[in-house]
Amino acid sequence: PGDGIGPEVMDEALLTLETIKMKFDIYYELKTALVGGAAIDQRGKALPDETIEICKWAHCILFGSVGGPKWEHLPPEEQPERGALLPLRKKFGLYANLRPAIIYPPLAAASPLKYEIIKNGVDMIIVRELTSGIYFGQPKGREERNGVTVAFDTLTYSVPEIEKICRIAFETARSRCKKLCSVDKANVLASSVLWREVVNRLWQNEFPDIELQHLYIDNATMQLIRQPYNFDVIVCDNMFGDILSDEAAMITGSIGMLASASLGDNRFGLYEPSGGSAPDIAGKGIANPIAQILSLALMFKYSFNRDDICKCIQNAVKKTLDKGYRTKDIYTEGAILVNTAEMG
Ligand code: NAD
Repeated sequence: PGDGIGPEVMDEALLTLETIKMKFDIYYELKTALVGGAAIDQRGKALPDETIEICKWAHCILFGSVGGPKWEHLPPEEQPERGALLPLRKKFGLYANLRPAIIYPPLAAASPLKYEIIKNGVDMIIVRELTSGIYFGQPKGREERNGVTVAFDTLTYSVPEIEKICRIAFETARSRCKKLCSVDKANVLASSVLWREVVNRLWQNEFPDIELQHLYIDNATMQLIRQPYNFDVIVCDNMFGDILSDEAAMITGSIGMLASASLGDNRFGLYEPSGGSAPDIAGKGIANPIAQILSLALMFKYSFNRDDICKCIQNAVKKTLDKGYRTKDIYTEGAILVNTAEMG
Protein backbone atom coordinates (compact mmCIF):
# COMPACT_ATOMS: atom_id res chain seq x y z
CA PRO A 1 0.00 0.00 0.00
CA GLY A 2 2.88 2.44 0.66
CA ASP A 3 2.28 6.02 1.82
CA GLY A 4 -0.25 8.84 1.85
CA ILE A 5 -3.54 7.81 0.27
CA GLY A 6 -1.97 4.46 -0.78
CA PRO A 7 -3.36 2.43 2.16
CA GLU A 8 -6.79 4.10 1.90
CA VAL A 9 -7.30 3.34 -1.78
CA MET A 10 -5.65 -0.08 -1.50
CA ASP A 11 -8.30 -1.10 1.08
CA GLU A 12 -10.98 -0.53 -1.56
CA ALA A 13 -9.05 -2.45 -4.23
CA LEU A 14 -8.68 -5.40 -1.83
CA LEU A 15 -12.38 -5.27 -1.05
CA THR A 16 -12.96 -5.46 -4.82
CA LEU A 17 -10.60 -8.43 -4.98
CA GLU A 18 -12.54 -10.18 -2.22
CA THR A 19 -15.79 -9.55 -4.12
CA ILE A 20 -14.23 -10.92 -7.33
CA LYS A 21 -13.15 -14.01 -5.44
CA MET A 22 -16.76 -14.76 -4.49
CA LYS A 23 -18.24 -13.88 -7.86
CA PHE A 24 -15.77 -15.81 -10.02
CA ASP A 25 -14.80 -18.56 -7.60
CA ILE A 26 -11.08 -17.88 -7.97
CA TYR A 27 -8.29 -18.72 -5.54
CA TYR A 28 -5.41 -16.42 -4.64
CA GLU A 29 -2.75 -15.91 -2.01
CA LEU A 30 -2.07 -12.36 -0.93
CA LYS A 31 0.93 -11.04 0.99
CA THR A 32 1.33 -7.41 2.05
CA ALA A 33 4.79 -5.81 2.07
CA LEU A 34 6.29 -2.57 3.31
CA VAL A 35 7.45 -0.07 0.70
CA GLY A 36 8.41 3.62 0.44
CA GLY A 37 8.24 5.91 3.43
CA ALA A 38 6.38 3.30 5.48
CA ALA A 39 9.33 0.93 4.95
CA ILE A 40 11.89 3.66 5.76
CA ASP A 41 10.09 4.28 9.05
CA GLN A 42 9.87 0.62 10.04
CA ARG A 43 12.91 -1.01 8.35
CA GLY A 44 15.28 1.86 7.57
CA LYS A 45 15.06 1.63 3.76
CA ALA A 46 12.48 2.18 1.04
CA LEU A 47 12.73 -1.31 -0.45
CA PRO A 48 13.57 -3.83 2.30
CA ASP A 49 14.95 -7.27 1.37
CA GLU A 50 11.83 -8.98 2.74
CA THR A 51 9.70 -6.91 0.33
CA ILE A 52 11.86 -8.01 -2.61
CA GLU A 53 11.49 -11.63 -1.48
CA ILE A 54 7.69 -11.31 -1.32
CA CYS A 55 7.66 -9.74 -4.80
CA LYS A 56 9.78 -12.63 -6.12
CA TRP A 57 7.35 -15.12 -4.58
CA ALA A 58 4.35 -13.40 -6.18
CA HIS A 59 3.04 -13.51 -9.75
CA CYS A 60 2.49 -9.77 -9.73
CA ILE A 61 2.54 -6.66 -7.55
CA LEU A 62 -0.42 -4.44 -6.76
CA PHE A 63 1.24 -1.19 -5.73
CA GLY A 64 -0.29 1.78 -3.86
CA SER A 65 1.89 4.86 -3.99
CA VAL A 66 4.97 6.12 -2.20
CA GLY A 67 6.47 9.41 -1.07
CA GLY A 68 5.64 12.51 0.89
CA PRO A 69 7.19 15.55 2.55
CA LYS A 70 8.27 13.52 5.58
CA TRP A 71 11.05 11.81 3.59
CA GLU A 72 12.10 14.65 1.27
CA HIS A 73 15.12 15.58 3.41
CA LEU A 74 16.76 12.22 2.61
CA PRO A 75 19.37 11.87 -0.18
CA PRO A 76 17.46 11.40 -3.49
CA GLU A 77 18.49 7.74 -3.93
CA GLU A 78 17.13 6.89 -0.46
CA GLN A 79 13.79 8.67 -0.92
CA PRO A 80 10.65 6.55 -1.41
CA GLU A 81 10.34 6.87 -5.21
CA ARG A 82 14.00 6.64 -6.24
CA GLY A 83 14.72 4.12 -3.49
CA ALA A 84 11.79 1.77 -4.12
CA LEU A 85 9.92 2.21 -7.38
CA LEU A 86 12.87 2.58 -9.76
CA PRO A 87 14.77 -0.42 -8.28
CA LEU A 88 11.58 -2.51 -8.42
CA ARG A 89 11.14 -1.70 -12.13
CA LYS A 90 14.78 -2.53 -12.82
CA LYS A 91 14.92 -5.68 -10.68
CA PHE A 92 11.83 -7.21 -12.25
CA GLY A 93 12.61 -6.05 -15.81
CA LEU A 94 9.38 -4.05 -16.11
CA TYR A 95 10.12 -2.61 -19.54
CA ALA A 96 6.58 -1.86 -20.75
CA ASN A 97 4.43 0.79 -19.14
CA LEU A 98 0.79 0.74 -20.19
CA ARG A 99 -1.33 3.71 -19.25
CA PRO A 100 -4.94 3.77 -20.33
CA ALA A 101 -6.33 7.30 -20.65
CA ILE A 102 -10.10 7.26 -20.65
CA ILE A 103 -12.67 10.03 -20.59
CA TYR A 104 -15.96 8.58 -19.40
CA PRO A 105 -18.80 10.59 -21.00
CA PRO A 106 -20.38 11.41 -17.57
CA LEU A 107 -17.03 12.96 -16.51
CA ALA A 108 -16.54 15.04 -19.65
CA ALA A 109 -16.83 18.24 -17.62
CA ALA A 110 -13.64 17.32 -15.72
CA SER A 111 -11.55 17.53 -18.91
CA PRO A 112 -9.92 20.85 -19.81
CA LEU A 113 -10.76 20.18 -23.48
CA LYS A 114 -13.86 21.58 -25.18
CA TYR A 115 -17.00 19.49 -24.85
CA GLU A 116 -17.34 19.09 -28.68
CA ILE A 117 -13.97 17.34 -28.79
CA ILE A 118 -14.60 14.80 -26.05
CA LYS A 119 -18.37 14.43 -25.96
CA ASN A 120 -18.21 10.89 -27.37
CA GLY A 121 -15.57 9.81 -24.89
CA VAL A 122 -11.87 9.07 -25.33
CA ASP A 123 -10.32 5.66 -24.77
CA MET A 124 -6.65 5.10 -25.54
CA ILE A 125 -3.64 3.29 -24.14
CA ILE A 126 -0.12 4.67 -24.20
CA VAL A 127 2.58 1.98 -24.28
CA ARG A 128 5.85 3.48 -23.08
CA GLU A 129 9.27 1.80 -23.08
CA LEU A 130 10.41 2.03 -19.48
CA THR A 131 13.92 0.68 -18.94
CA SER A 132 16.06 2.05 -21.79
CA GLY A 133 16.46 5.16 -23.95
CA ILE A 134 17.86 8.51 -22.93
CA TYR A 135 17.13 8.07 -19.19
CA PHE A 136 19.49 5.09 -18.97
CA GLY A 137 21.92 5.46 -21.93
CA GLN A 138 25.65 5.75 -21.20
CA PRO A 139 27.69 7.87 -21.21
CA LYS A 140 25.87 10.63 -19.43
CA GLY A 141 27.43 13.36 -17.40
CA ARG A 142 29.01 16.77 -17.34
CA GLU A 143 32.49 18.00 -18.20
CA GLU A 144 34.55 21.03 -19.16
CA ARG A 145 35.34 21.36 -22.86
CA ASN A 146 37.62 24.23 -23.85
CA GLY A 147 36.63 26.15 -20.72
CA VAL A 148 32.89 25.62 -21.29
CA THR A 149 30.66 23.40 -19.11
CA VAL A 150 28.88 20.78 -21.18
CA ALA A 151 26.29 18.20 -20.08
CA PHE A 152 25.30 15.19 -22.15
CA ASP A 153 22.97 12.17 -22.26
CA THR A 154 22.96 9.25 -24.64
CA LEU A 155 19.88 7.92 -26.44
CA THR A 156 20.35 4.25 -27.30
CA TYR A 157 17.92 1.56 -28.42
CA SER A 158 18.73 -1.95 -29.60
CA VAL A 159 16.63 -3.96 -32.05
CA PRO A 160 15.55 -6.49 -29.35
CA GLU A 161 14.49 -3.65 -27.02
CA ILE A 162 12.35 -2.06 -29.74
CA GLU A 163 10.89 -5.41 -30.79
CA LYS A 164 9.88 -6.29 -27.23
CA ILE A 165 7.99 -3.08 -26.50
CA CYS A 166 6.41 -2.85 -29.95
CA ARG A 167 5.23 -6.45 -29.86
CA ILE A 168 3.33 -5.65 -26.65
CA ALA A 169 1.87 -2.58 -28.34
CA PHE A 170 0.77 -4.50 -31.45
CA GLU A 171 -0.78 -7.22 -29.28
CA THR A 172 -2.58 -4.60 -27.20
CA ALA A 173 -3.92 -3.02 -30.39
CA ARG A 174 -5.04 -6.44 -31.62
CA SER A 175 -7.12 -6.91 -28.45
CA ARG A 176 -8.79 -3.51 -28.95
CA CYS A 177 -9.66 -1.50 -32.09
CA LYS A 178 -6.65 -2.77 -34.12
CA LYS A 179 -5.13 0.71 -34.54
CA LEU A 180 -1.54 1.47 -33.53
CA CYS A 181 0.21 4.83 -33.70
CA SER A 182 4.01 4.73 -33.31
CA VAL A 183 5.54 8.02 -32.18
CA ASP A 184 9.16 8.93 -32.90
CA LYS A 185 11.42 11.66 -34.26
CA ALA A 186 12.73 9.78 -37.29
CA ASN A 187 13.38 13.02 -39.20
CA VAL A 188 16.18 13.85 -36.73
CA LEU A 189 17.19 10.94 -34.48
CA ALA A 190 19.12 7.83 -35.55
CA SER A 191 17.49 5.79 -32.79
CA SER A 192 14.07 6.79 -34.17
CA VAL A 193 15.04 5.70 -37.69
CA LEU A 194 15.86 2.26 -36.29
CA TRP A 195 12.66 2.32 -34.20
CA ARG A 196 10.56 2.97 -37.33
CA GLU A 197 12.35 0.24 -39.32
CA VAL A 198 11.70 -2.31 -36.57
CA VAL A 199 8.04 -1.28 -36.20
CA ASN A 200 7.49 -1.60 -39.96
CA ARG A 201 9.16 -5.00 -40.09
CA LEU A 202 7.10 -6.33 -37.17
CA TRP A 203 3.96 -4.99 -38.81
CA GLN A 204 4.68 -6.68 -42.16
CA ASN A 205 5.79 -10.00 -40.66
CA GLU A 206 3.52 -10.47 -37.65
CA PHE A 207 0.75 -7.88 -37.44
CA PRO A 208 -0.47 -7.00 -40.97
CA ASP A 209 -4.06 -6.92 -39.62
CA ILE A 210 -3.28 -3.82 -37.52
CA GLU A 211 -3.79 -0.34 -38.98
CA LEU A 212 -0.38 1.32 -38.40
CA GLN A 213 0.38 5.03 -38.37
CA HIS A 214 3.69 6.84 -37.65
CA LEU A 215 3.70 10.33 -36.13
CA TYR A 216 6.58 12.60 -35.14
CA ILE A 217 6.45 13.45 -31.46
CA ASP A 218 5.82 17.17 -32.04
CA ASN A 219 2.83 16.41 -34.27
CA ALA A 220 1.59 13.70 -31.87
CA THR A 221 1.40 16.16 -28.95
CA MET A 222 -0.80 18.42 -31.13
CA GLN A 223 -3.06 15.66 -32.45
CA LEU A 224 -3.62 14.34 -28.94
CA ILE A 225 -5.26 17.64 -28.01
CA ARG A 226 -6.98 18.22 -31.36
CA GLN A 227 -8.48 14.77 -31.95
CA PRO A 228 -7.89 12.52 -28.93
CA TYR A 229 -10.76 10.26 -30.04
CA ASN A 230 -8.71 9.20 -33.08
CA PHE A 231 -6.16 7.32 -30.97
CA ASP A 232 -6.44 3.75 -29.78
CA VAL A 233 -2.94 2.45 -28.89
CA ILE A 234 0.16 4.68 -28.99
CA VAL A 235 3.68 3.26 -28.64
CA CYS A 236 6.77 5.32 -27.95
CA ASP A 237 10.20 5.36 -26.37
CA ASN A 238 10.89 6.22 -22.75
CA MET A 239 11.12 10.01 -22.92
CA PHE A 240 8.39 10.61 -25.52
CA GLY A 241 6.15 8.25 -23.54
CA ASP A 242 6.86 10.09 -20.32
CA ILE A 243 5.64 13.34 -21.88
CA LEU A 244 2.74 11.96 -23.92
CA SER A 245 1.29 9.89 -21.06
CA ASP A 246 1.13 12.93 -18.79
CA GLU A 247 -0.48 14.95 -21.56
CA ALA A 248 -3.05 12.19 -22.06
CA ALA A 249 -3.64 12.01 -18.29
CA MET A 250 -4.27 15.74 -18.21
CA ILE A 251 -6.89 15.66 -20.96
CA THR A 252 -8.90 13.17 -18.91
CA GLY A 253 -8.87 15.75 -16.12
CA SER A 254 -8.85 13.25 -13.28
CA ILE A 255 -5.61 11.66 -12.07
CA GLY A 256 -7.56 9.72 -9.43
CA MET A 257 -9.16 7.64 -12.20
CA LEU A 258 -6.07 6.52 -14.10
CA ALA A 259 -4.54 3.10 -13.67
CA SER A 260 -1.25 1.81 -15.04
CA ALA A 261 0.53 -1.47 -15.66
CA SER A 262 4.29 -1.98 -15.86
CA LEU A 263 4.99 -5.31 -17.51
CA GLY A 264 7.99 -7.60 -17.80
CA ASP A 265 8.35 -11.02 -19.37
CA ASN A 266 6.19 -14.02 -18.44
CA ARG A 267 3.22 -11.87 -17.48
CA PHE A 268 4.90 -10.44 -14.40
CA GLY A 269 3.60 -6.95 -13.76
CA LEU A 270 3.38 -4.08 -11.31
CA TYR A 271 -0.01 -2.37 -11.21
CA GLU A 272 -0.47 1.07 -9.70
CA PRO A 273 -2.44 4.31 -9.98
CA SER A 274 -0.86 6.90 -12.30
CA GLY A 275 -0.97 9.53 -9.55
CA GLY A 276 1.14 9.75 -6.41
CA SER A 277 0.52 9.56 -2.67
CA ALA A 278 -1.47 12.83 -2.59
CA PRO A 279 -0.18 13.99 0.83
CA ASP A 280 -2.54 17.01 0.65
CA ILE A 281 -5.60 14.76 1.10
CA ALA A 282 -4.10 11.73 2.87
CA GLY A 283 -5.95 10.57 5.99
CA LYS A 284 -9.12 12.49 5.13
CA GLY A 285 -10.96 9.56 3.56
CA ILE A 286 -11.73 11.56 0.41
CA ALA A 287 -9.26 10.09 -2.11
CA ASN A 288 -10.67 8.54 -5.26
CA PRO A 289 -10.03 4.76 -5.14
CA ILE A 290 -10.97 4.17 -8.79
CA ALA A 291 -7.38 4.33 -10.15
CA GLN A 292 -6.35 1.64 -7.66
CA ILE A 293 -9.40 -0.49 -8.44
CA LEU A 294 -8.80 -0.17 -12.19
CA SER A 295 -5.15 -1.16 -11.59
CA LEU A 296 -6.51 -4.37 -10.09
CA ALA A 297 -8.57 -4.81 -13.28
CA LEU A 298 -5.41 -4.47 -15.40
CA MET A 299 -3.73 -7.05 -13.15
CA PHE A 300 -6.38 -9.61 -14.04
CA LYS A 301 -6.06 -8.83 -17.75
CA TYR A 302 -2.29 -8.85 -18.14
CA SER A 303 -0.91 -11.09 -15.37
CA PHE A 304 -3.74 -13.62 -15.13
CA ASN A 305 -5.14 -13.49 -18.66
CA ARG A 306 -8.67 -12.92 -17.26
CA ASP A 307 -10.10 -10.28 -19.55
CA ASP A 308 -13.57 -11.27 -18.32
CA ILE A 309 -12.74 -10.19 -14.75
CA CYS A 310 -11.01 -7.04 -15.99
CA LYS A 311 -14.13 -6.07 -17.97
CA CYS A 312 -16.38 -6.89 -15.01
CA ILE A 313 -14.47 -4.44 -12.79
CA GLN A 314 -14.36 -1.78 -15.53
CA ASN A 315 -18.12 -2.13 -16.05
CA ALA A 316 -18.73 -1.75 -12.32
CA VAL A 317 -16.78 1.53 -12.41
CA LYS A 318 -18.78 2.76 -15.41
CA LYS A 319 -22.09 1.86 -13.73
CA THR A 320 -21.07 3.60 -10.51
CA LEU A 321 -20.22 6.76 -12.44
CA ASP A 322 -23.43 6.52 -14.49
CA LYS A 323 -25.38 6.45 -11.23
CA GLY A 324 -23.83 9.81 -10.34
CA TYR A 325 -21.47 8.85 -7.50
CA ARG A 326 -18.41 11.13 -7.31
CA THR A 327 -15.50 11.59 -4.95
CA LYS A 328 -14.46 15.19 -4.37
CA ASP A 329 -11.81 15.31 -7.15
CA ILE A 330 -14.39 14.53 -9.87
CA TYR A 331 -17.44 16.12 -8.26
CA THR A 332 -19.62 18.50 -10.27
CA GLU A 333 -22.90 20.09 -9.19
CA GLY A 334 -25.86 17.74 -9.04
CA ALA A 335 -23.77 14.60 -8.50
CA ILE A 336 -23.76 12.47 -5.33
CA LEU A 337 -20.68 13.23 -3.25
CA VAL A 338 -19.16 10.12 -1.62
CA ASN A 339 -16.03 9.35 0.37
CA THR A 340 -13.31 6.78 -0.45
CA ALA A 341 -15.04 3.85 1.26
CA GLU A 342 -18.44 4.66 -0.23
CA MET A 343 -16.96 4.87 -3.72
CA GLY A 344 -15.26 1.49 -3.11
P1 NAD B 1 0.02 13.40 -6.67
O1 NAD B 1 -0.46 12.60 -7.83
O2 NAD B 1 0.23 12.67 -5.40
O3 NAD B 1 -1.00 14.60 -6.38
C1 NAD B 1 -1.32 15.57 -7.38
C2 NAD B 1 -2.75 16.09 -7.14
O4 NAD B 1 -3.68 15.08 -7.51
C3 NAD B 1 -3.01 16.39 -5.65
O5 NAD B 1 -3.82 17.53 -5.55
C4 NAD B 1 -3.76 15.17 -5.15
O6 NAD B 1 -4.62 15.44 -4.08
C5 NAD B 1 -4.51 14.74 -6.41
N1 NAD B 1 -4.74 13.29 -6.42
C6 NAD B 1 -3.85 12.31 -6.73
N2 NAD B 1 -4.41 11.11 -6.61
C7 NAD B 1 -5.68 11.32 -6.21
C8 NAD B 1 -6.77 10.47 -5.89
N3 NAD B 1 -6.66 9.14 -5.98
N4 NAD B 1 -7.93 11.03 -5.49
C9 NAD B 1 -8.06 12.36 -5.41
N5 NAD B 1 -7.08 13.23 -5.69
C10 NAD B 1 -5.90 12.71 -6.08
O7 NAD B 1 1.38 14.11 -7.13
P2 NAD B 1 2.40 15.01 -6.32
O8 NAD B 1 1.67 15.92 -5.39
O9 NAD B 1 3.31 15.56 -7.36
O10 NAD B 1 3.26 13.98 -5.45
C11 NAD B 1 2.98 13.66 -4.09
C12 NAD B 1 3.95 12.58 -3.65
O11 NAD B 1 3.71 11.39 -4.42
C13 NAD B 1 5.41 12.95 -3.86
O12 NAD B 1 6.15 12.49 -2.76
C14 NAD B 1 5.79 12.18 -5.12
O13 NAD B 1 7.17 11.87 -5.14
C15 NAD B 1 4.96 10.95 -4.98
N6 NAD B 1 4.65 10.25 -6.23
C16 NAD B 1 4.62 8.90 -6.17
C17 NAD B 1 4.28 8.17 -7.30
C18 NAD B 1 4.23 6.69 -7.19
O14 NAD B 1 4.18 6.16 -6.08
N7 NAD B 1 4.17 5.98 -8.30
C19 NAD B 1 3.97 8.84 -8.49
C20 NAD B 1 3.97 10.24 -8.51
C21 NAD B 1 4.31 10.94 -7.36
